[in-house]
Amino acid sequence: SADKERANNVAKIKVVVRKRPLNKKEIAKKEEDIIYIDSNFLTVHERKLKVDLTEYIEKHEFVFDAVLNEDVSNDEVYAETVEPIVPLIFQRTKATCFAYGQTGSGKTYTMEPLPLKASHDILRLMHHTYRNQGFQLFVSFFEIYGGKLFDLLNERKKLCMREDGKQQVCIVGLQEYRVSKVETIKEFIERGNSTRSTGTTGANEESSRSHAILQLCIKRSADGTESKPTRLVGKLSFIDLAGSERGADTTDNDKQTRIEGAEINKSLLALKECIRALDNDQGHIPFRGSKLTEVLRDSFVGDSRTVMISCISPSSGSCEHTLNTLRYADRVK
Ligand code: ADP
Ligand code: MG
Repeated sequence: SADKERANNVAKIKVVVRKRPLNKKEIAKKEEDIIYIDSNFLTVHERKLKVDLTEYIEKHEFVFDAVLNEDVSNDEVYAETVEPIVPLIFQRTKATCFAYGQTGSGKTYTMEPLPLKASHDILRLMHHTYRNQGFQLFVSFFEIYGGKLFDLLNERKKLCMREDGKQQVCIVGLQEYRVSKVETIKEFIERGNSTRSTGTTGANEESSRSHAILQLCIKRSADGTESKPTRLVGKLSFIDLAGSERGADTTDNDKQTRIEGAEINKSLLALKECIRALDNDQGHIPFRGSKLTEVLRDSFVGDSRTVMISCISPSSGSCEHTLNTLRYADRVK
Protein backbone atom coordinates (compact mmCIF):
# COMPACT_ATOMS: atom_id res chain seq x y z
CA SER A 1 0.00 0.00 0.00
CA ALA A 2 1.01 3.67 -0.21
CA ASP A 3 1.50 3.75 3.57
CA LYS A 4 3.85 0.77 3.49
CA GLU A 5 5.85 2.27 0.67
CA ARG A 6 6.22 5.56 2.50
CA ALA A 7 7.35 3.71 5.64
CA ASN A 8 10.04 1.89 3.68
CA ASN A 9 11.33 5.18 2.34
CA VAL A 10 12.05 6.64 5.75
CA ALA A 11 15.53 5.60 6.87
CA LYS A 12 15.72 3.38 9.95
CA ILE A 13 18.48 5.49 11.41
CA LYS A 14 19.26 9.05 10.51
CA VAL A 15 22.17 11.05 11.89
CA VAL A 16 21.97 14.81 11.58
CA VAL A 17 24.45 17.43 12.83
CA ARG A 18 23.32 20.92 13.78
CA LYS A 19 25.78 23.77 14.25
CA ARG A 20 24.66 26.75 16.32
CA PRO A 21 25.88 30.32 15.72
CA LEU A 22 28.83 31.75 17.69
CA ASN A 23 27.46 33.42 20.81
CA LYS A 24 28.40 36.82 22.30
CA LYS A 25 30.70 35.29 24.88
CA GLU A 26 32.66 33.37 22.25
CA ILE A 27 32.91 36.45 20.04
CA ALA A 28 34.08 38.54 23.02
CA LYS A 29 36.82 35.98 23.66
CA LYS A 30 37.82 36.26 19.99
CA GLU A 31 37.07 32.61 19.40
CA GLU A 32 36.70 31.62 15.78
CA ASP A 33 34.24 29.52 13.82
CA ILE A 34 36.18 26.37 12.92
CA ILE A 35 33.31 24.40 11.33
CA TYR A 36 33.02 24.33 7.54
CA ILE A 37 29.91 22.85 5.96
CA ASP A 38 29.31 21.88 2.35
CA SER A 39 25.97 20.09 1.90
CA ASN A 40 26.28 16.96 4.07
CA PHE A 41 30.06 17.22 4.47
CA LEU A 42 31.55 18.84 7.52
CA THR A 43 35.18 19.80 8.21
CA VAL A 44 36.66 20.82 11.55
CA HIS A 45 39.79 22.99 11.37
CA GLU A 46 41.78 22.20 14.48
CA ARG A 47 44.64 24.58 15.28
CA LYS A 48 47.73 22.76 16.46
CA LEU A 49 51.33 23.54 17.34
CA LYS A 50 54.38 21.84 15.90
CA VAL A 51 57.34 21.01 18.16
CA ASP A 52 58.99 24.27 17.06
CA LEU A 53 55.74 26.04 18.15
CA THR A 54 54.70 27.10 14.67
CA GLU A 55 50.99 26.75 14.11
CA TYR A 56 49.28 24.47 11.61
CA ILE A 57 45.72 23.37 10.94
CA GLU A 58 44.64 19.76 11.08
CA LYS A 59 41.46 19.12 9.09
CA HIS A 60 38.97 16.48 10.26
CA GLU A 61 36.39 15.50 7.66
CA PHE A 62 32.98 13.93 8.32
CA VAL A 63 29.91 12.96 6.29
CA PHE A 64 26.41 12.68 7.79
CA ASP A 65 22.88 12.15 6.50
CA ALA A 66 22.37 15.89 6.86
CA VAL A 67 24.40 18.78 8.22
CA LEU A 68 22.46 21.85 9.31
CA ASN A 69 24.22 25.19 9.29
CA GLU A 70 23.72 27.98 11.85
CA ASP A 71 21.14 29.72 9.65
CA VAL A 72 18.80 26.71 9.63
CA SER A 73 15.54 27.37 11.53
CA ASN A 74 13.79 25.07 14.00
CA ASP A 75 11.05 24.55 11.39
CA GLU A 76 13.64 23.27 8.95
CA VAL A 77 15.13 21.02 11.64
CA TYR A 78 11.67 19.54 12.18
CA ALA A 79 11.16 19.00 8.44
CA GLU A 80 14.53 17.25 8.17
CA THR A 81 14.14 15.00 11.22
CA VAL A 82 10.74 14.22 12.76
CA GLU A 83 8.15 15.31 10.19
CA PRO A 84 8.64 12.31 7.84
CA ILE A 85 8.23 9.92 10.79
CA VAL A 86 4.96 11.29 12.18
CA PRO A 87 2.59 9.43 9.78
CA LEU A 88 4.38 6.15 10.56
CA ILE A 89 3.39 6.13 14.21
CA PHE A 90 -0.20 5.53 13.11
CA GLN A 91 1.18 2.33 11.50
CA ARG A 92 2.71 0.80 14.66
CA THR A 93 6.12 2.42 14.35
CA LYS A 94 8.00 3.47 17.47
CA ALA A 95 10.34 6.35 16.81
CA THR A 96 12.94 8.09 18.93
CA CYS A 97 14.64 11.42 18.40
CA PHE A 98 17.78 12.18 20.42
CA ALA A 99 19.66 15.43 20.94
CA TYR A 100 23.31 14.72 21.73
CA GLY A 101 26.14 17.16 22.48
CA GLN A 102 28.07 19.09 25.10
CA THR A 103 26.26 21.46 27.46
CA GLY A 104 25.56 24.74 25.66
CA SER A 105 25.67 23.23 22.16
CA GLY A 106 21.92 23.73 21.53
CA LYS A 107 20.26 20.45 22.53
CA THR A 108 17.36 22.00 24.41
CA TYR A 109 16.99 24.81 21.87
CA THR A 110 16.73 22.14 19.17
CA MET A 111 14.58 19.66 21.06
CA GLU A 112 12.00 21.86 22.76
CA PRO A 113 9.92 22.82 19.70
CA LEU A 114 9.87 19.33 18.15
CA PRO A 115 7.14 17.65 20.28
CA LEU A 116 4.89 20.68 19.72
CA LYS A 117 5.28 20.59 15.97
CA ALA A 118 4.86 16.81 15.98
CA SER A 119 1.70 16.91 18.11
CA HIS A 120 0.29 19.59 15.83
CA ASP A 121 0.74 17.20 12.87
CA ILE A 122 -0.48 14.16 14.85
CA LEU A 123 -3.68 15.92 15.88
CA ARG A 124 -4.26 17.10 12.31
CA LEU A 125 -3.96 13.52 11.05
CA MET A 126 -6.34 12.36 13.80
CA HIS A 127 -8.92 14.97 12.91
CA HIS A 128 -8.73 14.48 9.16
CA THR A 129 -7.15 11.33 7.68
CA TYR A 130 -8.04 9.19 10.70
CA ARG A 131 -11.24 10.93 11.69
CA ASN A 132 -13.59 8.91 13.94
CA GLN A 133 -11.27 5.92 14.13
CA GLY A 134 -10.81 5.98 17.87
CA PHE A 135 -7.21 7.23 17.94
CA GLN A 136 -6.13 9.13 21.03
CA LEU A 137 -2.97 11.03 21.91
CA PHE A 138 -1.23 10.82 25.29
CA VAL A 139 1.76 12.67 26.69
CA SER A 140 4.22 11.75 29.43
CA PHE A 141 7.45 13.41 30.51
CA PHE A 142 10.12 12.06 32.86
CA GLU A 143 13.81 12.31 33.53
CA ILE A 144 16.64 9.92 34.30
CA TYR A 145 18.98 11.38 36.87
CA GLY A 146 21.78 9.35 38.45
CA GLY A 147 20.18 6.17 37.05
CA LYS A 148 16.79 6.89 38.66
CA LEU A 149 13.48 7.86 37.04
CA PHE A 150 11.41 10.89 38.05
CA ASP A 151 7.99 11.93 36.74
CA LEU A 152 8.19 15.53 35.50
CA LEU A 153 4.40 15.79 35.26
CA ASN A 154 3.77 14.53 38.79
CA GLU A 155 5.90 16.53 41.22
CA ARG A 156 9.06 14.62 40.35
CA LYS A 157 7.72 11.43 41.88
CA LYS A 158 10.28 8.62 41.82
CA LEU A 159 9.30 5.84 39.40
CA CYS A 160 10.36 2.24 38.85
CA MET A 161 10.44 0.14 35.77
CA ARG A 162 8.97 -3.26 35.06
CA GLU A 163 9.05 -5.53 32.06
CA ASP A 164 6.05 -7.65 31.16
CA GLY A 165 7.70 -10.52 29.27
CA LYS A 166 6.32 -9.34 25.92
CA GLN A 167 9.17 -6.86 25.56
CA GLN A 168 6.90 -4.10 26.79
CA VAL A 169 8.47 -1.81 29.33
CA CYS A 170 6.20 -0.37 31.90
CA ILE A 171 7.16 2.54 34.07
CA VAL A 172 5.07 1.95 37.13
CA GLY A 173 3.04 5.01 38.13
CA LEU A 174 4.15 7.25 35.24
CA GLN A 175 1.41 9.79 34.62
CA GLU A 176 0.06 9.85 31.09
CA TYR A 177 -2.29 12.62 30.08
CA ARG A 178 -4.66 12.48 27.20
CA VAL A 179 -4.40 15.60 25.07
CA SER A 180 -6.48 16.92 22.23
CA LYS A 181 -4.99 20.40 21.80
CA VAL A 182 -1.44 21.58 21.06
CA GLU A 183 -1.92 24.31 23.66
CA THR A 184 -2.38 21.67 26.40
CA ILE A 185 0.81 19.87 25.33
CA LYS A 186 2.63 23.20 25.53
CA GLU A 187 1.46 23.64 29.13
CA PHE A 188 2.62 20.12 30.04
CA ILE A 189 6.05 20.71 28.48
CA GLU A 190 6.44 23.98 30.36
CA ARG A 191 5.36 22.34 33.59
CA GLY A 192 7.79 19.45 33.05
CA ASN A 193 10.71 21.70 32.20
CA SER A 194 10.21 23.74 35.36
CA THR A 195 10.22 20.47 37.35
CA ARG A 196 13.56 19.25 35.93
CA SER A 197 16.46 18.86 38.34
CA THR A 198 17.63 22.27 39.37
CA GLY A 199 20.07 22.15 42.24
CA THR A 200 21.53 25.11 44.05
CA THR A 201 24.06 25.68 41.28
CA GLY A 202 21.50 26.76 38.70
CA ALA A 203 19.23 25.24 36.10
CA ASN A 204 21.53 24.38 33.22
CA GLU A 205 24.20 23.04 35.54
CA GLU A 206 21.93 20.36 37.01
CA SER A 207 19.72 19.59 34.03
CA SER A 208 22.88 18.92 32.03
CA ARG A 209 23.30 15.80 34.18
CA SER A 210 19.91 14.32 33.39
CA HIS A 211 18.22 12.82 30.34
CA ALA A 212 14.75 14.31 29.75
CA ILE A 213 12.30 12.03 27.95
CA LEU A 214 9.05 13.29 26.50
CA GLN A 215 6.79 10.66 24.95
CA LEU A 216 3.81 11.04 22.66
CA CYS A 217 1.78 7.83 22.49
CA ILE A 218 -0.96 7.04 20.04
CA LYS A 219 -3.55 4.62 21.35
CA ARG A 220 -6.68 3.23 19.86
CA SER A 221 -9.77 1.65 21.35
CA ALA A 222 -10.59 -1.89 20.29
CA ASP A 223 -13.82 -0.97 18.51
CA GLY A 224 -12.75 2.38 17.06
CA THR A 225 -15.00 4.37 19.37
CA GLU A 226 -13.92 6.17 22.50
CA SER A 227 -15.85 3.92 24.85
CA LYS A 228 -13.64 0.81 24.92
CA PRO A 229 -10.20 0.59 26.58
CA THR A 230 -7.29 1.62 24.40
CA ARG A 231 -4.12 -0.13 23.33
CA LEU A 232 -0.84 1.31 22.19
CA VAL A 233 -0.44 1.84 18.44
CA GLY A 234 2.74 3.89 18.09
CA LYS A 235 5.08 6.04 20.09
CA LEU A 236 7.29 9.04 19.47
CA SER A 237 9.98 9.79 22.06
CA PHE A 238 12.03 12.98 22.32
CA ILE A 239 15.18 12.72 24.37
CA ASP A 240 17.22 15.68 25.50
CA LEU A 241 20.34 13.80 26.60
CA ALA A 242 22.67 14.79 29.43
CA GLY A 243 25.60 16.95 28.37
CA SER A 244 28.06 14.59 26.64
CA GLU A 245 31.01 16.14 28.52
CA ARG A 246 29.38 15.07 31.81
CA GLY A 247 30.29 11.47 31.07
CA ALA A 248 33.86 12.51 31.73
CA ASP A 249 33.08 13.73 35.27
CA THR A 250 34.38 10.44 36.61
CA THR A 251 37.44 11.81 38.39
CA ASP A 252 35.72 14.82 39.98
CA ASN A 253 36.42 15.53 43.66
CA ASP A 254 32.74 15.41 44.51
CA LYS A 255 31.52 11.84 44.97
CA GLN A 256 27.95 12.52 43.77
CA THR A 257 29.30 14.16 40.61
CA ARG A 258 31.55 11.14 40.01
CA ILE A 259 28.65 8.70 40.39
CA GLU A 260 26.48 10.74 38.03
CA GLY A 261 29.32 11.05 35.53
CA ALA A 262 29.85 7.30 35.50
CA GLU A 263 26.12 6.72 34.96
CA ILE A 264 25.99 9.23 32.07
CA ASN A 265 29.08 7.71 30.48
CA LYS A 266 27.54 4.24 30.75
CA SER A 267 24.21 5.33 29.27
CA LEU A 268 25.71 7.18 26.30
CA LEU A 269 27.95 4.21 25.49
CA ALA A 270 25.02 1.78 25.83
CA LEU A 271 22.88 3.99 23.59
CA LYS A 272 25.54 3.99 20.88
CA GLU A 273 25.85 0.21 21.07
CA CYS A 274 22.06 -0.26 20.84
CA ILE A 275 21.72 1.99 17.79
CA ARG A 276 24.63 0.22 16.10
CA ALA A 277 23.06 -3.17 16.82
CA LEU A 278 19.76 -1.93 15.36
CA ASP A 279 21.50 -0.75 12.22
CA ASN A 280 23.19 -4.11 11.70
CA ASP A 281 19.89 -5.91 12.30
CA GLN A 282 21.62 -7.86 15.03
CA GLY A 283 19.23 -10.12 16.89
CA HIS A 284 20.71 -9.20 20.23
CA ILE A 285 20.41 -5.59 21.30
CA PRO A 286 22.32 -4.75 24.49
CA PHE A 287 19.52 -2.88 26.32
CA ARG A 288 20.66 -3.94 29.74
CA GLY A 289 23.68 -1.66 29.58
CA SER A 290 21.92 1.26 31.26
CA LYS A 291 18.66 2.66 32.60
CA LEU A 292 18.29 4.84 29.51
CA THR A 293 18.45 1.93 27.07
CA GLU A 294 16.23 -0.27 29.27
CA VAL A 295 13.56 2.43 29.30
CA LEU A 296 13.79 2.67 25.51
CA ARG A 297 13.74 -1.08 24.98
CA ASP A 298 10.29 -1.26 23.38
CA SER A 299 11.21 1.58 21.05
CA PHE A 300 14.09 -0.42 19.60
CA VAL A 301 12.21 -3.63 18.78
CA GLY A 302 9.82 -4.11 15.87
CA ASP A 303 9.38 -1.36 13.32
CA SER A 304 11.48 1.42 14.79
CA ARG A 305 13.00 4.67 13.59
CA THR A 306 15.86 6.56 15.23
CA VAL A 307 16.96 10.13 14.59
CA MET A 308 20.11 11.42 16.26
CA ILE A 309 20.61 15.17 16.21
CA SER A 310 24.17 15.96 17.22
CA CYS A 311 24.50 19.55 18.34
CA ILE A 312 27.82 21.36 18.07
CA SER A 313 29.26 24.74 18.94
CA PRO A 314 31.20 26.39 16.10
CA SER A 315 33.89 27.85 18.33
CA SER A 316 37.60 27.07 18.46
CA GLY A 317 37.32 26.89 22.26
CA SER A 318 35.01 23.85 21.98
CA CYS A 319 37.09 22.00 19.39
CA GLU A 320 37.83 18.96 21.53
CA HIS A 321 34.21 18.49 22.67
CA THR A 322 33.00 19.03 19.10
CA LEU A 323 35.35 16.36 17.77
CA ASN A 324 34.13 13.97 20.48
CA THR A 325 30.49 14.66 19.54
CA LEU A 326 31.17 14.16 15.82
CA ARG A 327 33.08 10.93 16.44
CA TYR A 328 30.21 9.61 18.54
CA ALA A 329 27.72 10.50 15.79
CA ASP A 330 30.02 8.94 13.23
CA ARG A 331 30.00 5.64 15.16
CA VAL A 332 26.21 5.65 15.39
CA LYS A 333 25.75 6.28 11.65
P1 ADP B 1 22.14 22.67 25.75
O1 ADP B 1 20.74 22.27 25.97
O2 ADP B 1 22.87 21.77 24.78
O3 ADP B 1 22.92 22.85 27.02
P2 ADP B 1 20.94 25.14 24.90
O4 ADP B 1 19.90 24.61 23.98
O5 ADP B 1 20.50 25.55 26.25
O6 ADP B 1 22.15 24.11 25.04
O7 ADP B 1 21.66 26.32 24.13
C1 ADP B 1 22.62 27.18 24.75
C2 ADP B 1 22.35 28.62 24.33
O8 ADP B 1 22.55 28.78 22.93
C3 ADP B 1 20.93 29.06 24.60
O9 ADP B 1 20.94 30.40 25.03
C4 ADP B 1 20.25 28.93 23.23
O10 ADP B 1 19.19 29.84 23.11
C5 ADP B 1 21.39 29.26 22.27
N1 ADP B 1 21.25 28.50 21.01
C6 ADP B 1 21.42 27.18 20.86
N2 ADP B 1 21.27 26.79 19.59
C7 ADP B 1 20.96 27.90 18.90
C8 ADP B 1 20.67 28.18 17.50
N3 ADP B 1 20.66 27.20 16.59
N4 ADP B 1 20.40 29.45 17.15
C9 ADP B 1 20.42 30.44 18.07
N5 ADP B 1 20.68 30.26 19.38
C10 ADP B 1 20.95 29.01 19.80
MG1 MG C 1 19.79 21.77 27.81
